[in-house]
Amino acid sequence: MIFSGYHNHTIFCDGKNTAEEMVEEAIRLGCPELGFSGHCYTPFDNTYCMSQEETEEYIETVKKLKEKYASKIKILLGIEQDYYAPLPPEGLYDYMIGSVHYAKKNGECYEIDHSEKVYLKLVNEVFDGDYYALAENYFAAVADVYNKTKCDIIGHFDLVLKYNRDNRLFDPTHPRYVAASTRAFDALCKTPAIFELNTGAIARGMQNVPYPAFHFLESLKEQNKPVLLSADCHDKNSLLFAFERYAAFATLPRLSDYLNKK
Ligand SMILES: [Zn+2]
Ligand SMILES: [Zn+2]
Repeated sequence: MIFSGYHNHTIFCDGKNTAEEMVEEAIRLGCPELGFSGHCYTPFDNTYCMSQEETEEYIETVKKLKEKYASKIKILLGIEQDYYAPLPPEGLYDYMIGSVHYAKKNGECYEIDHSEKVYLKLVNEVFDGDYYALAENYFAAVADVYNKTKCDIIGHFDLVLKYNRDNRLFDPTHPRYVAASTRAFDALCKTPAIFELNTGAIARGMQNVPYPAFHFLESLKEQNKPVLLSADCHDKNSLLFAFERYAAFATLPRLSDYLNKK
């Protein structure tokens, strides 16, 4: 199987490599396509997102690379849009990944996936130690991510599992977790958005399973919903991380096939 990746970060946000380094790596790997998905401008968070100036530079750079490498690879200009951030003008990007990176409580947004330390602090100080309350808060936003953003791809569906390797913090078969995650999953299955199978947390040693959890991946297969492999890549050395391992779940090899039919 020939792979392409569409969930990729560069030095414009929190990635390690330049966009051109990523393009060269994708060509070396024989990818027919490569998509960039910088973290969108998020006014209340300047830690890992692109500023407005960086966003402009990002767009310009990717557009130039599109032309420069047109004979070797198809490059797509995307964005990883956070649920709580302002939306970009329509048509600015070739595609959008819709992701929830925060829990919002009492008008304040708290980052979920910054680090284990920050995550535990959030659970303990904002959610009174209740992992399921945080999961309910998170999945309520995820359930609405397509409605709000009209994204093409749903980013890391169950991101709240990031630090829960081997279920060491909470039980994802707990009825409250199952109810919250299933409600979001069912809501999103009714939309045209594509789920990604995201290997990013495995690449970074946080998890040993991809997002979404396997029972959701099985359900997507049964429903014939397209699934896109995605590395959530922050380092060109993991551009197609574990794609071979999960190839059986990938039913959409090229994103442009989906975008052209839209
Ligand atoms: Zn993300
Ligand atoms: Zn990402």
